[in-house]
Amino acid sequence: MSTIAGNIAQVEARIRAAALAVQRDVTSIHLLAVSKTKPAAALREAYAAGVRDFGENYLQEARAKQVELADLPLCWHFIGPIQSNKTRDIAEHFAWVHSVDRLKIAQRLSDQRPADLPPLNICIQVNVSGEASKSGCNPADLPALAAAISGLPRLKLRGLMAIPEPTEDRAEQDAAFATVRTLQESLNMGLDTLSMGMSHDLESAIAQGATWVRIGTALFGARDYGQA
Ligand SMILES: *Cc1c(COP(=O)(O)O)cnc(C)c1O
Repeated sequence: MSTIAGNIAQVEARIRAAALAVQRDVTSIHLLAVSKTKPAAALREAYAAGVRDFGENYLQEARAKQVELADLPLCWHFIGPIQSNKTRDIAEHFAWVHSVDRLKIAQRLSDQRPADLPPLNICIQVNVSGEASKSGCNPADLPALAAAISGLPRLKLRGLMAIPEPTEDRAEQDAAFATVRTLQESLNMGLDTLSMGMSHDLESAIAQGATWVRIGTALFGARDYGQA
């Protein structure tokens, strides 16, 4: 078994154990393999081990890998910060965007989503860490943003995404993810998606209702930005 295949098996075992611990159906929890800085060959290995969904943060890097891996039926998720001049490529080449935090970007993604593709799946990124985080919509602004996005014709609002400030303290992890779930429930819009949990905190995220866990390091090893 390759290292990546072994890592995938370990992460899947963690997901199953975390689901079992809170009596959740494991099929409601999806693995998003976060492949930023990793070469196309690593994604191909993950595909061979059964992974279909990949998350990328940098558009140019993602596009290069999409071209290299065009022979595989992969589902691409954009999870990084979005500048206005990148929305057209994102609207054309991804199935999901997890990192929408303002209406202007959502409006552009809807306008630019090609008519022959299904609506683009959207998560609104919320900031549950206050001053510690630069990205994500302020919880107070969430209801208005969610209402506006749900009215855009070429987008399908699916739920919320969050990247809480990293901590190894399980109680702090639980509190942050519970806040995200409560925000989603209080929208009362029937949203089915909570994109939360990374390599170090997926157990807590699953206990609090995550439906997508976004896992990089635990699948592909540490990232070397020096060579990226
Ligand atoms: C890099 C990244 C991840 C993966 O983080 P790991 O700690 O490597 O699992 C998840 N979500 C987002 C938005 C990221 O940028």
